[in-house]
Amino acid sequence: MAAAAGLAEAAQAPLTINGAPVDIALTAGVAARGAAGSDLASPVDRAAIAVDQARAARRMVGAFDEAAYGDPGDNLSLISELMTALKDGEVTLAYQPKYDFRAERITGVEALMRWSHPRRSFVSPDLFIGMAEETGRIRPLTEWAIRRAIADQKTMSEAGQALTVSVNISGRLLSDESFAEFALAEVAASGADLCFEITETAVMDNPELALRIIARFAEAGIAVSLDDYGAGLSSLTYLKQIRADELKIDKSFILGLDQSSRDALLVKSTIDLAHSLGLKVTAEGVETPTALALLRGMGCDLAQGYLIGRPVPLAVLTEQLAGPTVETALARQA
Ligand code: C2E
Ligand code: CA
Ligand code: CA
Repeated sequence: MAAAAGLAEAAQAPLTINGAPVDIALTAGVAARGAAGSDLASPVDRAAIAVDQARAARRMVGAFDEAAYGDPGDNLSLISELMTALKDGEVTLAYQPKYDFRAERITGVEALMRWSHPRRSFVSPDLFIGMAEETGRIRPLTEWAIRRAIADQKTMSEAGQALTVSVNISGRLLSDESFAEFALAEVAASGADLCFEITETAVMDNPELALRIIARFAEAGIAVSLDDYGAGLSSLTYLKQIRADELKIDKSFILGLDQSSRDALLVKSTIDLAHSLGLKVTAEGVETPTALALLRGMGCDLAQGYLIGRPVPLAVLTEQLAGPTVETALARQA
């Protein structure tokens, strides 16, 4: 560790090449030879992960943190499998409807990534997306998701269903200008009606660049949603700085809405705050008719959750929306 720290330190010294000053940043990852863990992962692999972990923690030097990574052998193979899975069509998007209280119908869907792994029955997106982020592989996944969502929106529209499609954008990508160029070009070329759901923690990582990129998305007609609101350390500065269209209240507050008057108070005041800033509010995690009724009473704009519909493949969604089921069921509960 000391040797690595010395190297990283030394790399910080000013350097001139052909008279021009050059900035060098070195991040070092350290892993012990023969340390515990699966024999699938070599010390070099673990050191490479340690570099990612150090970068994520904004440190120059970091030791491989096995606890933070889970079983390294397992996860390393999972990440390379994921990249192959993307090429082989094992990764798909599921769509979950968003119900508009005022319009009394489904006006949008959220695209959620699914991986049908041939051997493991279900790999949670929280796991594989977290790993893709940690190892710098989130960009190809997200670019794929944007293209897929745009194509699927066209299919929905041909079936007579005009729906805004929300795509989750990892905050890490908000410091990647070439990713932003990609997204802007895809939207411009297709004229798609997209919303980008962005989480707060992510934005805070590199505020200036992130805010600039978000403003460009907004100018291009892409709606911006502040995802998982309330789950992190939601600050007023954040709300003040970001040009967003929607605030999405985290499901942890909505799931307890029926039982907790404290949650209800927090949700109601968040809705009022968002409205006073001109933002629409979506509540995610709506599982019960009681929660739906409470949210309607609070003036919430949109609801998403298992009560309205689970995330399903495109074909199933199109079929569900063509039938009267979703809307009549909800109208009965109103
Ligand atoms: P999220 O963006 O907060 O997505 C909402 C999650 O809540 C989804 O989990 C959804 O299936 C679940 N959910 C929806 N309604 C209910 C409900 O009524 N009750 C409960 N208990 N849960 C509900 P999912 O699909 O497992 O996704 C987990 C997370 O993975 C997402 O959280 C998002 O952060 C991430 N994710 C999924 N797809 C993508 C993607 O394409 N790109 C990126 N960057 N992240 C994604
Ligand atoms: Ca989301
Ligand atoms: Ca959430």
